[in-house]
Amino acid sequence: MSKPDLSDIRLPVIAADLRSTIRHLLSEWYAQCRRDLPWRRTRDPYAIWISEVMLQQTQVNTATPYFRRFLELFPDVQRLARADEQSVLKAWEGLGYYSRARNLWRAARILDTRGGQVPAEWQTLRQLPGIGDYIAAAVLSIAFGLPYAVVDGNVKRVLARLLCLDTPVNQAKGHRLFQAAADRFLDRRHPGRHNQAVMELGALICGPHKPLCAQCPLGMCCEALQSRSVDQYPRRAERPKVGQQHWAAGVIVKNGRLLLTQRPATGLLAGMWEFPSVRPGPAEDPGQACLAYIRSALGLSVGLRQRIAGVRHAYTHFKLRLDVYLYAWQSGRIRLDGPADFQWVRPDRIERLPLHGAVHKVLPALITWLG
Ligand code: SF4
Repeated sequence: MSKPDLSDIRLPVIAADLRSTIRHLLSEWYAQCRRDLPWRRTRDPYAIWISEVMLQQTQVNTATPYFRRFLELFPDVQRLARADEQSVLKAWEGLGYYSRARNLWRAARILDTRGGQVPAEWQTLRQLPGIGDYIAAAVLSIAFGLPYAVVDGNVKRVLARLLCLDTPVNQAKGHRLFQAAADRFLDRRHPGRHNQAVMELGALICGPHKPLCAQCPLGMCCEALQSRSVDQYPRRAERPKVGQQHWAAGVIVKNGRLLLTQRPATGLLAGMWEFPSVRPGPAEDPGQACLAYIRSALGLSVGLRQRIAGVRHAYTHFKLRLDVYLYAWQSGRIRLDGPADFQWVRPDRIERLPLHGAVHKVLPALITWLG
């Protein structure tokens, strides 16, 4: 996959000496103010790749312990490639966006067949599962010192304000413009340091709310600050509101064990484990709808005991309201044409499986009910 051609993008004129001043100011500021983060102590492309995947959609403070633990469990491409998928998902549990973990694992398996090295080349890297323009540019610039500019939310925000760019940051068509702007500003002699400096400035100074312009090293070059229009940037296009879904989940107890089913290998939360669940119709009683689902889809006869919890959880594309019911197994063997897989699990062993966020929220109530 070759690097996108951005030669048709028209940017505001930025004088070469101004670009050079901005790079210099950024570099000085970064040397003094950067945070000491574990992935900044290494040039290992594998570790940098892991960190960048984790940091997509995740705060630094959240990602840090996950990064350390993941590197302990899977210290290199080979160890990740030869781990089983479930243990990788388990190590990722709580970070969300589980397709990222699955793609990391799949990419490691591909690299393992080619000698286990992370490639220092755009096209090869970009063809691996889960590696888009951002991850490829981050790994190549930070680990290998190659001149690729990263564009993430922080970079877009800084550039939008620095140049008063009116293009909305949250639309795909605007992405090419921000990439062209980032390319124009890139310090080609120190691309890794420059990329990290812009992202760090966006994280620490030029934040989404109340940017700290008085402390900003780029204040004298910033068009938004000079024109007193910082609050108008970055521009955003309106997005449709996230919908809400109501589901019912069944905790089925059989001889002291609970039934957990695995989600299919593709789609939302692929491969994660959960209690059997169904989306009831608008006029349906959720407990009865779940009972009917357990009978028809799993082939089990169960008796409804009671509702034990109601939890809410936000996923990327919708908000979930989940009512949870306790059922006693009566008869029947689970049918294999139902979920992808299933297990009867002792309550104290449930957390050994990779569970998604809503299931985690159910566990405290479940422990109370089961005593
Ligand atoms: S001066 Fe303010 S708006 Fe401009 S880049 Fe710095 S923090 Fe952002």
